[in-house]
Amino acid sequence: MTAEPDFRALFLGAHGEQDEAFERLLVDHVREHFAWRREFHPGDQGVRTGNGAAALEERTRAELQRLIGALRRSVPVSSPRYLGHMTSDLLMPGVLAQMVTTLYNPNNVTSEVAPVTVGMEHAAAAQLAAMIGFDGAEDAPRRAWGHLTSGGTVANIESLWMARAARCWPVAVARARGKPQCPGLDGIAPEDGWRVLNLSIDEVHDLHRRVGAWLDGLPVHLRAAAMEAIEEERIERVGAARYPAMSVLVPVTAHYSWEKAVKLLGMGTDRLVPVAVTERMRMDPGDLEDKVLAAHAKREAILAVVPVLGTTEYGTIDPVHEVVALRERCRVRGQSFWVHCDAAWGGYLASVFRREDGGLRSWREARQNFRFFPSEEVHAAFAALGDCDSVTVDPHKQGYIPFGAGALLLRDRRCRAFVAQDAPYVFDGDAVDELGRYALEGSRPGAMAAAVCITHRVLPLHAGAFGRLPAGSVRACESLFTRLRRLAARLRGVASLSVPFEPDTNLVCVAVNPEGNAKVSVMNAFMRDLYGQLSVDPSAPRQDRDFYVSRTRVRLDHLALGARARLLATLGLDEVDDGHLFLLRHTLMNPWLSAEPGKGLLDEYCAHLEGLVRSRAG
Ligand SMILES: *Cc1c(COP(=O)(O)O)cnc(C)c1O
Repeated sequence: MTAEPDFRALFLGAHGEQDEAFERLLVDHVREHFAWRREFHPGDQGVRTGNGAAALEERTRAELQRLIGALRRSVPVSSPRYLGHMTSDLLMPGVLAQMVTTLYNPNNVTSEVAPVTVGMEHAAAAQLAAMIGFDGAEDAPRRAWGHLTSGGTVANIESLWMARAARCWPVAVARARGKPQCPGLDGIAPEDGWRVLNLSIDEVHDLHRRVGAWLDGLPVHLRAAAMEAIEEERIERVGAARYPAMSVLVPVTAHYSWEKAVKLLGMGTDRLVPVAVTERMRMDPGDLEDKVLAAHAKREAILAVVPVLGTTEYGTIDPVHEVVALRERCRVRGQSFWVHCDAAWGGYLASVFRREDGGLRSWREARQNFRFFPSEEVHAAFAALGDCDSVTVDPHKQGYIPFGAGALLLRDRRCRAFVAQDAPYVFDGDAVDELGRYALEGSRPGAMAAAVCITHRVLPLHAGAFGRLPAGSVRACESLFTRLRRLAARLRGVASLSVPFEPDTNLVCVAVNPEGNAKVSVMNAFMRDLYGQLSVDPSAPRQDRDFYVSRTRVRLDHLALGARARLLATLGLDEVDDGHLFLLRHTLMNPWLSAEPGKGLLDEYCAHLEGLVRSRAG
């Protein structure tokens, strides 16, 4: 027996079980806020409202009533019957911290208007950085840094922007060689060309340091001109067209935000190179190496390689350790790339692998409470997170925090220098830590920083505290996986049911084909109809389905050949008259699914699915 509390009491509850605690905590702290308002110059005369205050209150009440009425049509994501998208019940500490802090309305663009919550944002980023294995120590050779974003999309875009600014900076230095404003730079700057686009990130920092020292050594009246001679060659100034094209390698399972990122940066989607996946739906390290070698042969620079930790559709874990190892092999032959791990979905699972003292739990240790999780490769992928150059994590996904919270984490804070933005009215010359100087977004809610930081303080990000939540969701996934296999056996003769990819974490997809059908298009229509019974009805006055799931379409040409043949055979399909398979997708993050009565609900779900299939496949 353990004395640890059951952390699930921190959720609001499917039926609002924690309503009294929530109300107490909310009302007490809202009162404190008004007391705080009154403390500021208490002698000032209160602002007197004119006529009509009562009527205005009534109008507000009426509109709020209409809002609440409309919200009855909302999706009941807090219920364990909701198995759909990456959203679930919320952790109370985060919601409360957010609601209370919103009343103070701090803007984390600068500590000038957010003296408290900017510190909390640094703290939240440090908590996340420690969870994934970045070194945040003040004297660390590469000291981590990070900040919150409005979500994973922005964090991903920003990582690419940061990677490009850092990796292209040496090109500007090389191009400034020989300019009259830069006498003496020749000895420091490398020559333009393939080599300079392939400096490792450590070499870039070293060059930055040496150029900085050289600038410092110049007489003051020459320094500004020399700096400008370099600045005017930067990609930020001259644009991507004056720079060699660089590609970004992502698995075919990558989130669509990567397309947005290369479009926005003016690189074009042609520069996004898809890497094949293995039968387990993980980035194929062999194909990655082939593509990296091909780029080397053609002298095409690679900006970044992006393994995904927890793919959006299947929850699978790319071999981050293989990508990092490949970066090392490339360095030896003078090729380099930035490694960004898109852990928007799976990042918080890293807490399962973290000991309270910050150390990494061994594979043996981490496996103890699971049936299948984690495979050795999955453990190795998490262990390698700390070697990535940057990582995206979404607190508004598996952090159980309200929407509007993503995070970008950098292994080495020195990279910020390459994107620093001046704005004389906001940032003072030496205000190096101002978030708005480096973040893509400007004004951002301090309330979100409070929500993330307070949640991590109540539930620290290690296996014994926060880690229990993702661990529970993985166990729920293992339960559903086992139950779906039994369902497949029960349905024999009626329909073929298949779980196309063994889950790596807490997402599981299902395909069902009615007996006797061999056409992919017919199965897809059947699945679409099933999905219709398991999804939101926007026209209903309130949602009343028994269960909600989500769906996805997997492109057949994205599957590894063996996996594709096996899947089609298992489902009894041999007429491929459609390019994709329609799948039901289950996200198992509700905290109550990992225990009774959640397990009972998973049985009920399988029985429900069975009924739907039988009534349609007969
Ligand atoms: C959700 C997700 C994103 C995008 O995050 P948003 O917060 O929705 O912007 C990016 N990558 C992966 C892998 C995701 O699962």
